[in-house]
Amino acid sequence: MTEPAPYLPQDTFAAADRGSRPVPRVFISPGRYVQGRGVLASLGHYLTLVRARRAALLMSSRGHREAGATIAASLRDARVEVLPRTFGGECSLEEIGAHVAALSSERVDCVIAAGGGKCIDAGKAIAYRLGAAVVIVPTLASNDAPCSALSVLYSAAGSALGAEYYPDSPALVVVDTDVVAAAPERYLVAGMGDAMATWYEARACLVNPAATTTVGARPTLASAAIGEVCARTLFEHGRAAAAAVAAHTVDDALETVVEANTLLSGIGFESGGLAAAHAVAQSFTGIPAVHATFLHGEMVAMGTLAHLVLEERPDEARRVAEFFATVGLPVHLGQLGIDPGDTATLDIVADGALRFPFVHNMLRPMTSALVRAALRDAHDLGAAVAAEVGDASYRRLQG
Ligand SMILES: [Zn+2]
Repeated sequence: MTEPAPYLPQDTFAAADRGSRPVPRVFISPGRYVQGRGVLASLGHYLTLVRARRAALLMSSRGHREAGATIAASLRDARVEVLPRTFGGECSLEEIGAHVAALSSERVDCVIAAGGGKCIDAGKAIAYRLGAAVVIVPTLASNDAPCSALSVLYSAAGSALGAEYYPDSPALVVVDTDVVAAAPERYLVAGMGDAMATWYEARACLVNPAATTTVGARPTLASAAIGEVCARTLFEHGRAAAAAVAAHTVDDALETVVEANTLLSGIGFESGGLAAAHAVAQSFTGIPAVHATFLHGEMVAMGTLAHLVLEERPDEARRVAEFFATVGLPVHLGQLGIDPGDTATLDIVADGALRFPFVHNMLRPMTSALVRAALRDAHDLGAAVAAEVGDASYRRLQG
């Protein structure tokens, strides 16, 4: 099958033919979002919303073992035919192409992607190529992928190649908090690192009249408000939610933070805009040892501190660093396995961040030298905070 023409939302929303008219505000979201204990058992019932009759089910082999039976029984009860597909682990064009080739003559009307961020992103890419609806079932609350209409593609070796966009958002997102609570604490905490960036990046885009979101539009007040509530939720309930998931229990704090990590973070970043925090985070994936060891949200945590340093907001940077250190996110370069004296590595990160287009949503012009200096200052701040707060949470999660 030939690759479909890439969909570029910038052509839709920030079209060159708009002449002198200003860039419009655009808000994007999934069709339906369902979150609660045990909702996976009702997945087939929810699929009636998208009128699915024949669904591909993409999961890792471990996912099929752990949740496959529950999902299959639910779909059988709803008379939805299932074609199981095993996700190999990387959201690469090779992996996507293999599933599309296998499914292209199967006339599936829906692709269900159940798993972590890369499985979800691969499911969106497969569904787009098949012209089918995509239904997302996150099994971790570790990232902002479930609700967005884009995938981050990786090479077969695992380094980030860039984003691919889709005209349709996921039709349905179903988050079973019993499943999320069964996962290791580190995943929920990484999701908090990713989610915390949402507000600071949305705010940077809101205050810079030249900034545009991932779809080439201006941010809405709705997305900025979502980002602000996301950050406030994490400060208020993040610690309690981490304790709940460490004990594999579901309580109100966990439900609240799962929503922040998944729904608020996802639609907040997509319609609110990205800036330096994600630029630095994506740039860290260019260092193989960091990419192989750390989760997206852990890299975003360090990116968020650099972002706040770039904005010259030391009080907020300190407050965020204290929160991150308490829940166990990395707050200095050493905790990402980077020697702060290694100027060659810092150059790679700073230069990489500058190539990430949304870094230029920051209010002041960005240069490699500014980003490099911000990384060093963020490292110094984080190291001081880690010395005060201690690194017991970080060591427990990474141990
Ligand atoms: Zn993210």
